[in-house]
Amino acid sequence: MQNDIKKLKILNSIELLKSIMCSCTLCPRKCKINRLKGERGFCKAAYPAKVFYHNVLYGEEIEVCPTYSIFLLGCNMRCKFCYVKNRAKKGSKTNAFDVKDLKIHLEEMAEKCKSISFVGGEPTVNILSVFETLAHISIFPLLIWNTNMYMDIRVPEILYEIVDLYIADLHFYSKQCSMNVAKTSDYFEHASKALKLASQNTKVIVRTLLLPNHIECCFFPIANWMKQNLPEVSLHIMDNYYSQNRESLKKEEITIAKEYAQSIGLNLYKEPFVNERTLQNIASKTIGEEIIIEEDGKIIFPNLTQEFLDISTFLAPENLELKIRKDMFIGGEKIE
Ligand code: SF4
Repeated sequence: MQNDIKKLKILNSIELLKSIMCSCTLCPRKCKINRLKGERGFCKAAYPAKVFYHNVLYGEEIEVCPTYSIFLLGCNMRCKFCYVKNRAKKGSKTNAFDVKDLKIHLEEMAEKCKSISFVGGEPTVNILSVFETLAHISIFPLLIWNTNMYMDIRVPEILYEIVDLYIADLHFYSKQCSMNVAKTSDYFEHASKALKLASQNTKVIVRTLLLPNHIECCFFPIANWMKQNLPEVSLHIMDNYYSQNRESLKKEEITIAKEYAQSIGLNLYKEPFVNERTLQNIASKTIGEEIIIEEDGKIIFPNLTQEFLDISTFLAPENLELKIRKDMFIGGEKIE
């Protein structure tokens, strides 16, 4: 029944999305170009949407793992710290393919994984292709929209009853900061509206990435806004900032932010077994886009695939979170 409702809603939304995209106003950029004819706006997203990476991941919020994650080309923001930028660039030149080609694979993954995650870039700029692809499957696991929330306010309504969980970013508050770091001056104004709408009827986990030197101007106001406007929504404070320009997040900044969040009684996201450091911070110069080694020796796996989960448990056998994830999800059986 649930699947039937989803499928019907997906089919009904396709014409509406086409009408929005023929003079594109899917996001606040309002480029008003005809995406259906292949024109590309600020986001540079193609139609049909292109996939530059897909894999089963184990390092996301525990309740969605293992999640079959589909990374789509095109984003309506320009975050300086975006770690998928290089891979997306490479993917667009080499082996990117139409998301519709995943149809058969998607159904298989829907059976094997707990969830399917649409990731970017930004999935919203590719929403029509996603819907056209989903229209061909009949098994729906949890559907996750991993988004920056910089979207037109009609989008949450369109995603209602289709998406089961938003994993929603909220990293910037001040206009100046979001302009300087992500070339998006009106980010908070639009993202906060969309977030309120989305959370009225769909589960949301808000991820806020602590940015170096942006605790007072961005984190504090975001924390206060969450407390006042979305007190029930989980806020996942991410302290795994990584940037190739060597700017790093200080330990004091992490402590100040977390203590402040606790002092105002925020509903903080906490996985059942999480220890002090986040999963990606287990172990640090880039030796590839899959593994990052920082100067202090920390190793970061931006996308924790099964292979990297094996390696990381070997490197850090004392890390309880990794061990539990491995025991829980793999148990000797590999998802092909
Ligand atoms: S989705 Fe892309 S083309 Fe459409 S308004 Fe946003 S940036 Fe412009």
